[in-house]
Amino acid sequence: MVNDIISIDAERMIDGRGGPAVEPARVVIQGERISAAGPADRIKAPEGARRISLGARTLLPGLIDAHVHLKGWRSSNPDDVLITPHPLAALRAAADCRKLLHAGFTTVRDCGGCLGPHLRDAIAAKEIPGPRILTAYRGLSQTGRVKKVTWALDITPLRQEVDGIDDCVRVVREQIGLGADLIKVSITGRVYAPQSDPGQTAYTSEEIQAIVKEAHRMGRRVAAHAQATQGIKNGILGGVDSIEHGIYLDEEACQWMRERNTVLVPTLAYFYRIATLGEGLGSPAYAVRKAKEVVEAHMKSFALAMRMGITIGMGTDFEGSALFPHGENGAEFDLMVDGGMAERDVIVAATATNAAILGIEQKVGTIETGKLADLIAVPGNPLKQISALRQVEFVMQEGRIARCRIEGVPEDLL
Ligand SMILES: [Zn+2]
Repeated sequence: MVNDIISIDAERMIDGRGGPAVEPARVVIQGERISAAGPADRIKAPEGARRISLGARTLLPGLIDAHVHLKGWRSSNPDDVLITPHPLAALRAAADCRKLLHAGFTTVRDCGGCLGPHLRDAIAAKEIPGPRILTAYRGLSQTGRVKKVTWALDITPLRQEVDGIDDCVRVVREQIGLGADLIKVSITGRVYAPQSDPGQTAYTSEEIQAIVKEAHRMGRRVAAHAQATQGIKNGILGGVDSIEHGIYLDEEACQWMRERNTVLVPTLAYFYRIATLGEGLGSPAYAVRKAKEVVEAHMKSFALAMRMGITIGMGTDFEGSALFPHGENGAEFDLMVDGGMAERDVIVAATATNAAILGIEQKVGTIETGKLADLIAVPGNPLKQISALRQVEFVMQEGRIARCRIEGVPEDLL
């Protein structure tokens, strides 16, 4: 019941701002917003507040995945999309949205897919459960970069092929008109396509600049799929806001990113899972081969980006198949820690930093007075054991409890 005042006590709170944990903590929620948060002995629960005790758990801001695809795919073979009815894919994507929310992801950025605006609107209208969505709708891709299905436009739902400055500008406007919150553009080849490689650049510098200029003019940020060095550099100089993947960074690229405030969303789990699980889960041989080639370089680039002080967000590139299952996006946290990032910084990446990357840091991303009450609780202390973030037991979204596996919470609040 959204008009109630709710007061939540927990053994610990990590507010997403990167400081030490608050122990024990209290958060007061009024309607959809946080009205107070801090040490339990300093924050008074208002009279008449509904009380929730989370016991030996840690409260955190709702998690944000800055790179997902909501396309309802269930196969590792990209050709299977040809025999999947669109309505079935949409229903599966709706199920994925529920899984994401239950796993603690209260916001996601959909980096390409024709279902994005519809899922976003149904969730915002509270018709189906799911995270708040910012969507790129269809990403821009130069012709010939991926397999083209000429006989049915709707079964190439992820991307829109377009070339040349004038047409790129037109398609940016078109995507925004069709509901895109951001523009996604692919400026290198990729692992998961037979006819392209991460090392290839895509689009000329002039095309990239035109896309960025038009997107910015219309108040949209640009996320660039960029895997190898030259393409990454074209993107940075072209003014894109984020480099997605960034497999092959070098010092010069990192320096330019730092100077221009370009952020990195590394998506470590994506390539790692293709390399280690892809063969057993039906990935095409070309994808497994290419993923194995890049995993080590990707981890090195991640370490370099940290050393060079680049702003790093958290994203998975998960899409719903067994290889990239929504709901298990926390796999990325483990790899970020394995790659040398402190647990505290991983949490900041997936909360405050990601909110800033999405441009919604005034609304969400930290536990602070005035922000929307997107909160999760996990057992134990994720600062010591990052895997705790994969055991989300309580999810609140805009002041409403979306999931609760904790006993003792008043029934009428559920
Ligand atoms: Zn992607």
